[in-house]
Amino acid sequence: MRRHRNVKIVATLGPASDDYETIRALSEAGADVFRLNMSHGTHDDIARRHALVRKVEADLGKPIAILADLQGPKLRVGVFQNGEEELAEGQKFRFDLDPAEGTASRVQLPHREIFEALEAGATLLVNDGKLRLRVDTCGKDHAQCTVLTGGTISNRKGVNVPDVVLPLAALSEKDRRDLDFACSLGVDWLALSFVQRAADVEEARALAKGRAAILSKIEKPAAVKAYAEILAASDGIMVARGDLGVELPVQAVPPIQKRLVRGARAAAKPVIVATQMLESMIESPMPTRAEVSDVATAIYEGADAVMLSAESAAGSYPVEAVRTMDNVAISVESDPTYREIIEASRSAKRATVADGIVAAAREIAETTDIRAICCFSQSGTTARLVARERPRVPIIAMTPLEVTARQLCLSWGTTCVIIEGKVERFKQAVIAAVRAARSMGFATQSNQILVTAGVPFNVQGTTNILRVAPCDERLIYSADPE
Ligand code: PGA
Ligand code: MN
Repeated sequence: MRRHRNVKIVATLGPASDDYETIRALSEAGADVFRLNMSHGTHDDIARRHALVRKVEADLGKPIAILADLQGPKLRVGVFQNGEEELAEGQKFRFDLDPAEGTASRVQLPHREIFEALEAGATLLVNDGKLRLRVDTCGKDHAQCTVLTGGTISNRKGVNVPDVVLPLAALSEKDRRDLDFACSLGVDWLALSFVQRAADVEEARALAKGRAAILSKIEKPAAVKAYAEILAASDGIMVARGDLGVELPVQAVPPIQKRLVRGARAAAKPVIVATQMLESMIESPMPTRAEVSDVATAIYEGADAVMLSAESAAGSYPVEAVRTMDNVAISVESDPTYREIIEASRSAKRATVADGIVAAAREIAETTDIRAICCFSQSGTTARLVARERPRVPIIAMTPLEVTARQLCLSWGTTCVIIEGKVERFKQAVIAAVRAARSMGFATQSNQILVTAGVPFNVQGTTNILRVAPCDERLIYSADPE
């Protein structure tokens, strides 16, 4: 149950991870969050995967987060008769509105707006830019193209049109239906694709009506520009490098990744680094050295989570991919250089009492033999503030709310415990924290832990206590007044 690393792992579910045993194996290998990609699969598929994760969660007795990723105004081709086709350089290929299954010479592109905005000479990119096509001629319902860079095109692969500004709404009709459906299932996080402005996030938040936290995928140049306001409007961030590297030159992505990760951490909001992290593991049981280095870099930068896409959704080695990330994380986090980098990149902002308390907790944990920082948190805000400090000791978030425990699965270094029954006295809280730390194996009777809480209890935003507590319950009874 206890993880030996701080960074979290997000695994996307798909046909390669569609049964109880695989999902359980992914979770046991280290996946903390499961991503349901609303671009693929029917509502029945999504509901089935959601139920399987919840069953694994109940059987393993630990909170697991489910993130539903909305397609957004992502342009995707339809489906092929044979599932996929090989396109060769120089050949002709046509995109149109006809819903008939695709062949080696045409496929549906169900977005009227593209054809209205396209011009001859424009470039179409397919599958994260792997295939390039030039538009020769186009009309209101089709585009005839020449393949410039060939490759495999398969069902519902993404299409980017970097040269053309498309007048697209932030949430399509499908997104609205998917959002409501995902919320009705009880997902913890919603990811919004192709966010361009804070208003897009607010629109989704209004539709979610508090049923899920909102994570913005940064994958458009406009979102990079408007990052500060998008971050302020969001509960979390994904550095969506697939589309980002298509919409911008690939070499622009690493500096942006660093900036986005730092910004999210300073705001105490979880940030996921995503896409192509272990891409070769779709087909191979061993990652490339460059991929291992990429996962390591995201962890050194201080990301809350690293993500698997097709590696776990459609690859041949989903469990091995999770295990690889887990191994890389353990290796990086035990490197003294990691600590140096993480500490040097801590932001100095201290605006509230809660900021002061979590900074003090981290400092005490650094100077004394403290085994864990336990925080009582309703909304999860205090736990995220502690996580922002990236302390050297484990963070245990104690919350009465299942949804808070699940949402915190995405936050760096945080293990969640759902507290049964109401905690009304600080002494009760300390005892619950000590028991949690001991039962998880973080501390023994002779150790000390830190406990943060807000008194009065069960009121949001009142963090005002920091206690160095002995892990021997008898001492708590005799020492604590209440
Ligand atoms: P996608 O998002 O897989 O839904 O496109 C991630 C990315 O673009 O990197
Ligand atoms: Mn994307």
